[in-house]
Amino acid sequence: MVRYVYDFTEGGRDMAGLLGGKGANLAEMTRLGLPVPPGFTVTTEACRAFLDSGGEPEGMWREVSDRLTALERAAGRLLGQPDGPLLLSVRSGARFSMPGMMETILDIGLNDESVLGLAKVSGNERFAWDSYRRLVQMFGSTVMGVDSAHFEREIAVLKETRGVQDDVHLTAGDLAGLVDTFKELIRDETGETFPQSPAEQLRRAVLAVFASWNGERARLYRRREHIADDLGTAVNVQRMVFGNLGADSGSGVAFTRDPATGRPGLYGDYLPDAQGEDVVAGIRNAVPLTELQRLDPGSYDRLRAHMQTLEGHYRDLCDIEFTIEHGTLWMLQTRVGKRTAEAAFAIAAELADEGTITQDEALVRVSGEQLARLMFPRFDADATGEPLAHGVPASPGAAVGAAVFDSAEAVRRATAGEKVVLVRQETTPDDLPGMIAAQAVLTSRGGKTSHAAVVARGMGKVCVCGAEALSVDTGARRFTTPDGTVVEEGTVLSVDGSAGAVYQGPVPLADSAVIRFLENGTRDENAAGTVDAVAGALARADSVRRLEVRANADTPEDAARARRFGAQGIGLCRTEHMFLGERRKLVEEMILAGSDTERDRALAALLPLQRQDFAGILEAMDGLPVTIRLLDPPLHEFLPDRTDLAVRIAAAEARGEVPAPHDVELLAAVNRMHEENPMLGLRGVRLGLLVPGLVAMQVRAVGEAVVERTRAGGAPRAEIMVPLVGDVRELRIVGEEVRRVLAEVSERSGVAVSCPVGTMIELPRAALTAGRIAGEAEFFSFGTNDLTQTTWGFSRDDVEAEFFSAYLDKGVFPTSPFETLDREGVGRLVEIAVTEGRAARPDLKIGVCGEHGGDPDSVHFFHATGLDYVSCSPFRVPVARLEAGRAALEGTDASDSR
Ligand code: ADP
Ligand code: MG
Ligand code: MG
Repeated sequence: MVRYVYDFTEGGRDMAGLLGGKGANLAEMTRLGLPVPPGFTVTTEACRAFLDSGGEPEGMWREVSDRLTALERAAGRLLGQPDGPLLLSVRSGARFSMPGMMETILDIGLNDESVLGLAKVSGNERFAWDSYRRLVQMFGSTVMGVDSAHFEREIAVLKETRGVQDDVHLTAGDLAGLVDTFKELIRDETGETFPQSPAEQLRRAVLAVFASWNGERARLYRRREHIADDLGTAVNVQRMVFGNLGADSGSGVAFTRDPATGRPGLYGDYLPDAQGEDVVAGIRNAVPLTELQRLDPGSYDRLRAHMQTLEGHYRDLCDIEFTIEHGTLWMLQTRVGKRTAEAAFAIAAELADEGTITQDEALVRVSGEQLARLMFPRFDADATGEPLAHGVPASPGAAVGAAVFDSAEAVRRATAGEKVVLVRQETTPDDLPGMIAAQAVLTSRGGKTSHAAVVARGMGKVCVCGAEALSVDTGARRFTTPDGTVVEEGTVLSVDGSAGAVYQGPVPLADSAVIRFLENGTRDENAAGTVDAVAGALARADSVRRLEVRANADTPEDAARARRFGAQGIGLCRTEHMFLGERRKLVEEMILAGSDTERDRALAALLPLQRQDFAGILEAMDGLPVTIRLLDPPLHEFLPDRTDLAVRIAAAEARGEVPAPHDVELLAAVNRMHEENPMLGLRGVRLGLLVPGLVAMQVRAVGEAVVERTRAGGAPRAEIMVPLVGDVRELRIVGEEVRRVLAEVSERSGVAVSCPVGTMIELPRAALTAGRIAGEAEFFSFGTNDLTQTTWGFSRDDVEAEFFSAYLDKGVFPTSPFETLDREGVGRLVEIAVTEGRAARPDLKIGVCGEHGGDPDSVHFFHATGLDYVSCSPFRVPVARLEAGRAALEGTDASDSR
């Protein structure tokens, strides 16, 4: 028979699935012998049964009643007993904590009779009536569904009539009157009466917690956080203790370490003469915990001892909630606490140094995402002041600029060299140019998956969204804060996308200490702990990871930086930028060439320039592999814009002049080369097959650069990569040419040049015929950006801003497939290609060079799939190193230790 109820003495922290996080940890504290008010947990399984059937699960109430009887016997009092009642709290608690679940109901068991008993035994009439008032209010709003604003209004009216500012000045009589008012209110609103039976109060509260699982806010939250809808919540029923019985009572929250920095010690707040919820609600000003040491040294010492026990037991930072009733300390909650990225690294390093956890566990406890947060520039913490508003920290980093209220103004000012922050209620695809032009985006609506958030993250732009306290008036070009401050267009704002805060005026920016350390080994004194912890975690990751980490870099500067960040080579060196700028003219000549001679002349002019580019990169990466991709984009990208040309010609004609012959020729070429879908057009390997001399020129430049570097005493390791291959025959034709040219360079120079020739796998057909392609390729590199586009059949640039936020909201995508590899679809193609490629050529080297190479979740997938390396932008290299290390520990003891 299934069991639906567990006493706190029967559970433990490994039962969080069944008892929820709060219940499991209450049980754990009980087992550890800490003073937890007794109680029991109704399981998530009961909740699931309730949600399935829509009714109370068979047998559940009998179990609850049995437990309740045991509680009553131990307390020597009955629930709601008229002369001195046992009172209970009913607390929701799912596996993962989430907003929108029913709020805790305190003081279940109070009614018109027992409130008098409570007044007598506590000797405090006002306390008793205030507790009853809170119960009726709480129960009325959360269980019976009366709008809580109605209750608040009645309180305000009463305060007004009594001429008092604060609740605490209402007398016992006032509060008793308020109870009557509330009861009437409930009757008017629901047609029901507030239940006087304590058992009925308990039963309805428990079922209301179950029902709140499917509340709108909770459902939305779960969808966004990818939490399954069928987990259900547990309910904790616990004997009340009272922090509001006078000066020798109180409630507080505490951390075993500073959650901001990770520094050990007791951190927290204490509020004398208060229920726990008052501390969190900030009704009155709490005092720091150190004050408790003065007020009640005995309780303080016991608290400190319990917290040491907890940290030792959980082997991590714990946060707790506690209450003191007449000098007796009670522990009401604990969990492994949330922390900043900085604290995460510091705590893991320190616990490992102490020997509390292993180095591997320390590595598992930090994440690439946290590391990335430490690498962004930040505002100087001493100089921020009070924020104007808080919103959702949608895209990290710190930026300063003048507020502008539409896209056109953003573009106008940015073009004139001004830094701007685009402020909107929310953004749409029309705002794209403004978002690109801005340093940061600030919206008053929308969450982490709103258009602004998705697009800003994609662009790596700072974004705070959903700053709901701001009322943005784009028409009047200003916004107003809750305290009435009006911020006009042009006002300088500082936006902290990591913390979700906005400040008025320029806040000075500080380079991240972690970046400075990675760049040149500097160890800032005031961030030494963080820097050392990061260095330690990276060192550990490097020693356990199997994946190599390379960088995507096109210039010697980027290559050098990537190397400082720990890159073990270049996985993708694009050559297209080598065709831009001054050189565009040469490319034009090559395209327009009327004869082989003309074309050869243009190519010959490009050759030395390319050679120089390659030599610089090979020098920066001396001794490490550099994968050079042959030209990939369609050629018309190197020609002038079609409309510009047409307008220029038409204007000349309108003036009665003869248009420049070069323009006419160019327009003809542009028209000839125009494609409806350039992404699927003449590009990649197709160029190599159709533009005579192009491949030969690029390969010769590579080969000669290798010769140059070898002669200079270097150890160049160039690899040649052919893009967009769909069929092995394409690669065979181009591969033969590559090898022919390299042989020629070797022969002429007398320096043996051998470069592995491989291909990108970025079309589904390539993945599906990988076995054959491996016959011609010495390595594979997955171009997961194009592979994602071609697998899904959408072009990133065209569709991302259009419908990704809708797809995320509707739950079609868990995350953007351009950020995190779509394992089911694109990932399956990767697996097929790895398996079949290796079957055909066991020593095939396989990597990935899309931006997914720097995404934590994707790195874990690439590790599991057996790739040899990931390659990503230089700034993501440390992130990829860390995650590759964590991936190698997945499924080991270290990763199970939590
Ligand atoms: P949340 O999950 O929102 O933190 P809790 O279940 O922890 O909600 O309850 C909120 C507050 O109610 C707690 O901080 C605690 O102070 C108070 N509380 C809950 N149960 C009891 C109890 N049995 N006795 C006294 N106070 C309680
Ligand atoms: Mg709590
Ligand atoms: Mg590509």
